[in-house]
Amino acid sequence: MIQKESHKWKTVVAAGLQPSGRQLHQLRPRTRPQPKIVDPDNAPRDQRSPAGDDAVVCRRCRLVITAVGERRVINGAHAHTFANPEGIVFEIVCYREAWGCGTVGSASSEFTWFAGYEWRIAVCLNCLTHLGWRFASRLGPFFHGLIADRLLVRGP
Ligand SMILES: [Zn+2]
Repeated sequence: MIQKESHKWKTVVAAGLQPSGRQLHQLRPRTRPQPKIVDPDNAPRDQRSPAGDDAVVCRRCRLVITAVGERRVINGAHAHTFANPEGIVFEIVCYREAWGCGTVGSASSEFTWFAGYEWRIAVCLNCLTHLGWRFASRLGPFFHGLIADRLLVRGP
């Protein structure tokens, strides 16, 4: 069943990766506050990260995407290495909120890297670089899995 659906995954991702402005209307910046839900995944913070509010910015345009304090441990780790169905390897780092990201396209559970979570493509709201994915459970919890080498930590 998963094999059969693989073309869909490619279609969705290929569309989301296009740097073209045609995708812009699909962006949905999260300007509304999230409804109060159960706290995210009950995920602990990444203990190896420095505490504080250091900004995590888009490597390409320097828009503030999130902060070090948003780092979370999901499924036992803050950083994960995954390959997509096309064999492209991503190092993903998990953050709770990522206010500099917009999402593109509809949610999908195909090939999800985190059981119970559907993903949407997450892009930089300023330069539209594909930064990773927003993973959301139907039960409410969500987090962002962002591509490590597309971010920079900007210290004070
Ligand atoms: Zn950017």
